[in-house]
Amino acid sequence: MVAQPQRRLVDTPHGVLTYTLTRKTVKNLNLRVGPGGEVAVSIPRRCSVRQADDFVRSRSGWILDALRRWEDRQAEPLPPASREDCARLLGEALARVYPLVEPLGVILPPLRLRALKSQWGNCHWAQGYITLNTALARCPEELRDYVALHELVHFLHHDHGPGFYAQMDALMPDWRRRRKALKGYTGALGKERSGKV
Ligand SMILES: [Zn+2]
Repeated sequence: MVAQPQRRLVDTPHGVLTYTLTRKTVKNLNLRVGPGGEVAVSIPRRCSVRQADDFVRSRSGWILDALRRWEDRQAEPLPPASREDCARLLGEALARVYPLVEPLGVILPPLRLRALKSQWGNCHWAQGYITLNTALARCPEELRDYVALHELVHFLHHDHGPGFYAQMDALMPDWRRRRKALKGYTGALGKERSGKV
């Protein structure tokens, strides 16, 4: 009988880690960080789950280094998009997140696309439109969604005060992680071949 892999969450001196635990006919505890950034541990059948957790805890510094290297590789921007693809990708991002603010009374704003040098987006709340950076087309979908939602929330809270962040927390609880991930893509800023769209 093959034991089902088990998802484990362990508190380590370097932060909380999740890993997949599998019992196998192996002699030693084995640890692997896969190509998708997943942490997998296999243990001999005689070992306890607690021993596996302790093992992960003792290797947590190494695991987090490996995960960080993996995240850095993820931050390789996508190739520049054509004008049409750019408009489609960013229009789709806006369409995906707009339903989150629609019940709050935000009117779907016209979208302008620009190759901004230092900003991912802008909310022109007085004029009623938002601008998204064409470089966002080179970022993963979840980061486009984050920027689009950020700009939409500015129609409700014009500045970055506590109200703004509370609204972001309510609508996209993991927005801080996305904002952090976006920092890895600053290389995509200002390198759009197509320029203004
Ligand atoms: Zn803002």
